[in-house]
Amino acid sequence: MSYDFDLFVIGGGSGGVRCARIAAGHGAKVAVAEERFWGGTCVNIGCVPKKLLVMAAEYAGAVQESRGFGWDTQLGRHDWPALIAAKDKEINRLNSAYRRMMDGAGCTMFDARAVLIDAHTLDVGGKRVTADRIVIATGGRPTRPDFPGADLCIVSDDAFYLPELPKRITILGGGYIAVEFAGIFAGLGAQVDLVFRQKLPLRGFDEDIREGLDAALLAQGINVIRERTVATVTATADGRLVTLSDGSQLETNLLFAAMGRHAYTADLGLDAAGVQTRSNGAIVVDAEMATSQPNIFAIGDVTDRLNLTPVAIAQGHSLADRLFGPGPRIWHLDAVATAVFSSPPIGTVGLTEAQAAANGPADIYLASFTPMRHTLSGRSRRTVMKLIVDQASQRVVGAHMLGEDAPEILQGLSVAINAGATKADFDRTVGIHPTAAEEFVTMRTRTRVAGAAAAKAAE
Ligand code: NDP
Repeated sequence: MSYDFDLFVIGGGSGGVRCARIAAGHGAKVAVAEERFWGGTCVNIGCVPKKLLVMAAEYAGAVQESRGFGWDTQLGRHDWPALIAAKDKEINRLNSAYRRMMDGAGCTMFDARAVLIDAHTLDVGGKRVTADRIVIATGGRPTRPDFPGADLCIVSDDAFYLPELPKRITILGGGYIAVEFAGIFAGLGAQVDLVFRQKLPLRGFDEDIREGLDAALLAQGINVIRERTVATVTATADGRLVTLSDGSQLETNLLFAAMGRHAYTADLGLDAAGVQTRSNGAIVVDAEMATSQPNIFAIGDVTDRLNLTPVAIAQGHSLADRLFGPGPRIWHLDAVATAVFSSPPIGTVGLTEAQAAANGPADIYLASFTPMRHTLSGRSRRTVMKLIVDQASQRVVGAHMLGEDAPEILQGLSVAINAGATKADFDRTVGIHPTAAEEFVTMRTRTRVAGAAAAKAAE
């Protein structure tokens, strides 16, 4: 049986593009369909523009901090439309770069929605196309709330295109997107309410980091509304009237729902092609990214496993190598470092204290200090750094940091952790002075023991 293509990739985001490009490099005849924008969420309405907005917000703090260093600076007016225009220009440049890259790799590109007709046939913008193998890389979409008035909320997709900076914005959620945008809007001068249903933001992160971030949010003047959610929202002349779960109300200009994302699989023809999904719509895959239909694979957020751009890229690359190349490149996916670009940012890799403690006794090394910059800037901002060491093997199984440059520092540290470094390896390493990072190799005194009833009350 001959097909139009050896491989058809549905979705031109980070994972899909990498898979297509590597497969084409191995000699496969490849097509990719993208219905919205090349580069997907990360490039267009995710990581990349988000980080540009984070950078824009950081200047406000830097200007104020500079006064402590002798500068006679005044914080001027911020021009939101100018920032958005500059961001759009850069994103358009990246879009074109993606197109060129795919074209250069010899991939056939369809600017159209692709829907599965059966296991080897697709409808691509009204045209029938067949392929031997198919990769689904359609990613995710922001989850919209379902309380009364929910259609009056914006989601992260919209936040990148606001015509003006709201005077007051209320953000619902305590995850990655909520805390990142809280820092962006507060830094740019908006009044921010952050409403989440836990005691602390970032459920699932290490508790010391969560507490440190909570303090940083308060120090930034963010109105933290914890252990509550939104019950209803109505429109007012100036914006929105938000009623919270405890009955209290607040008037705001915009309500931003950052309540997670879900796999984008609706109306994709998965049933017709015999591809199984979980109850939340995510595609079920095995360790080799194969779906329940042996010639169809899925990578990235559409599988709802580790929803991070570099993971989707690793999966796409590895799959293309396995299907068309010399065999898969192996990535360490059990200790993937991740960052939250809050203010200040967070970098984290490996186990939290609670996770390590559940596995057995763990030695905890914790440092919390005012970083050098803020001894003069006068800004109330602490850095938190933490190492989690498995007591039996003395391997460092987790590293966490809240503070300036944390994501940059944790990237390097994640190599050591993935290589199985022990606490003694860290202790043998000479620090770089004066940096915050050197703290990770100079932590000598154990702060506490966790797990196995705190190692039988530390004997
Ligand atoms: P997250 O899963 O990180 O957080 C979702 C938040 O919404 C949680 O605080 C959750 O509360 C809350 N929530 C969920 N449902 C409700 C509800 N019904 N009522 C009130 N609150 C609710 O999702 P995000 O939207 O922040 O981000 C989506 C994903 O995108 C991330 O998980 C991550 O994979 C990815 N991402 C990664 C980034 C990075 O790497 N820097 C940046 C941005 C996104 P609770 O904790 O109580 O469940």
